[in-house]
Amino acid sequence: MDAADTVLTIPDFCLVLLVGASGAGKSTFAARHFRPTEIVSSDTCRALVSDDEADQSASAAAFELVHMITGKRLAARRLTVIDATNLKVRDRKPLLALARRFHAPVVTFAFLLDAATCVARNRERGARGGRDVGVEVVTMQQTELRKGMPGLRRIGNFTAFETGAAVDRITEIRRVPS
Ligand code: GDP
Ligand code: MG
Repeated sequence: MDAADTVLTIPDFCLVLLVGASGAGKSTFAARHFRPTEIVSSDTCRALVSDDEADQSASAAAFELVHMITGKRLAARRLTVIDATNLKVRDRKPLLALARRFHAPVVTFAFLLDAATCVARNRERGARGGRDVGVEVVTMQQTELRKGMPGLRRIGNFTAFETGAAVDRITEIRRVPS
C-alpha cells in the first residue's frame, strides 16, 4: 500500500470483518471510520452479558449476540463491522454464512502488524486501565493470523485490504452504492 491508497472504496452495504491480534488497532480503526451503531464488537457483547468485556467464559453467549445483531442488521441492509479478532476459519464461518444469506459483499481488513507492536500496544492500553492480554496470547494470535492469510485472501466476494503500519495512512473509506 502506498500514499495513493489512502482513500479506500467499499460498498455502502457490506459486512466488514476486521481481522487481527489483540492490540492491532481494530477498535481504534473501527471508531475512526464507522458509526458506533455500525460496529458490532465482541468485547461490547461480552460486557453486555457479563459486565466484563474480558470475561472469556462469556464468549459463547457474546458471540450468539454478535451473530444475532449482525443478522438483524444485514436483513435490514445496514453496513455492519465486526470488531473481533476473526482469526479462525470457524470464527468467520457463521459470519460469512450470514453475509451469503443476506447477499452482503464481504470486505476484510487484515491487521498485519508485528507481534512486538501488538504486545507494546496491549501494555500501553493496560497502563491506561484497559485490557492487556499479554505476550503469550498475542503470539498465539499472530501465528493464527499468518497461517490463515491464504484462506483470508480467498474469502469475500468483494475485496480484502491488508493493513500494516499503513493503517494510519487510510484517511477515508468511501462508500459507493451497491
Ligand atoms: P484492538 O485490540 O485490535 O481492538 O486494538 P485497539 O484499537 O484497542 O488498539 C490497541 C492500542 O493501540 C490502543 O491503546 C490504541 O490507542 C493503540 N493504537 C491503535 N491504533 C493505533 C495506531 O494506528 N497507531 C498507534 N501508535 N497506536 C494505535
Ligand atoms: Mg478491540
